[in-house]
Amino acid sequence: MKPTLKQVADVVETFCELIPFFPKSEGALKVVIKDVHRFVGSQEELAWLATAAPLSIDKYEGLPCLRAVFETRYKPADVSPEEGTASFARREMEKAQVCPICYGSGWEQVERNGLSSVRECACRRTGKPVLVQNMKRGA
Ligand SMILES: [Zn+2]
Repeated sequence: MKPTLKQVADVVETFCELIPFFPKSEGALKVVIKDVHRFVGSQEELAWLATAAPLSIDKYEGLPCLRAVFETRYKPADVSPEEGTASFARREMEKAQVCPICYGSGWEQVERNGLSSVRECACRRTGKPVLVQNMKRGA
């Protein structure tokens, strides 16, 4: 069952407390609540996001960062079946200029000797999001 706007609002209110730089103005919160309500398909997914987002986001950098956390586990409810989740995420990130390597967290996940760790992302070093057209490496 899809969560109600009220249930989404309750979760988003906890993000204000738990996620640094999360917007606190009423207008901004309305936009966040509407977007989360659009892409979260069930109450179970909302409950998961309520726990996962504060753990994954150390600095709020716009709506796509919430969506990116959600997409690590679920398919957004507002993506049509013929549209791939990955392409949707990429398009959203290009629009918002959120770094596609680190999703705006500033830390890039790397595999080293079979162990996964993180290193400082290029966007954090330069202070700018890495644009998708500059990301030919490894392709
Ligand atoms: Zn980055």
